[in-house]
Amino acid sequence: MSALEGASPYIRAESNLAALGLDQMAASLPDYMRMVSEGDLEFCAALAEMTAAEVAAKEARVTRQRIRSAGFPYEKTLADFDWSFQPSVPRARVEELATLRFMERAENVLLVGSPGVGKTHLAIAVGIEAVRARREVRFMDCARLVDDLRDAQSRGILKKRLQYYAHSKLLIIDELGYLDIDEGGADLLFQLVSTRYEQRSTIITTNVGIGGWAKVFGDEVAASAIADRVCHHCHVIKITGRSYRLKDLPADSKAAPGAAGKEQL
Ligand code: ADP
Ligand code: MG
Repeated sequence: MSALEGASPYIRAESNLAALGLDQMAASLPDYMRMVSEGDLEFCAALAEMTAAEVAAKEARVTRQRIRSAGFPYEKTLADFDWSFQPSVPRARVEELATLRFMERAENVLLVGSPGVGKTHLAIAVGIEAVRARREVRFMDCARLVDDLRDAQSRGILKKRLQYYAHSKLLIIDELGYLDIDEGGADLLFQLVSTRYEQRSTIITTNVGIGGWAKVFGDEVAASAIADRVCHHCHVIKITGRSYRLKDLPADSKAAPGAAGKEQL
């Protein structure tokens, strides 16, 4: 005999909702029961509202999980971006990117600027919009991506790994140019960029303008082969301005050597 046999319909309903993991519905049950019994709401309307809250809570859970698995180093949105601090950022173009139309056309985005100007922040913000739109997003630091491909190559599973990255609806390659990449690394990156070319969108953040990529890759031919595929259908956004990280430092410390990094726009 069930423990709930003979229990009131309310107790049974509450117990069933809990067993099904429908916590929102279980929590709102007393309120809705009162509204229905007092004639303020029809049963079906109450059920529609209760299930809508449960659906919304489930969608929020799924989005949180997808944001976690995308691998963002931090979570920031366009709402967190202080446009007045960085007036060189073309707001309308960035907001257009957030509509994700560029992804429908498999176009790329190149965010160029010195350290701290908001490149990674904007890339993450667009990435989070894509996650909210239920697109599969992968964020990778460039050096880590090259290491990962190199590791796959040494284990004989490069093709599989390239397919894995080719599959992401949006790939964000962060910090290209902070570390130089050798010939083997450039070749792997070229293969990756080629698999995504005109098929899927890639966002790249870099502190080195395209003209400086030959130095990053140590080779003019590899650099232009990569740049060619990245830049063919590409939104290039150059950010010139102060580092947000240094915004609270007194004016004289902002001129400290190294603060501008490898800027080469
Ligand atoms: P980078 O250009 O080196 O990638 P980030 O985008 O990571 O720099 O920015 C460094 C930090 O400053 C992050 O915490 C980011 O959220 C913050 N930040 C940068 N620019 C802005 C801005 N205009 N408004 C608000 N926060 C910003
Ligand atoms: Mg960055």
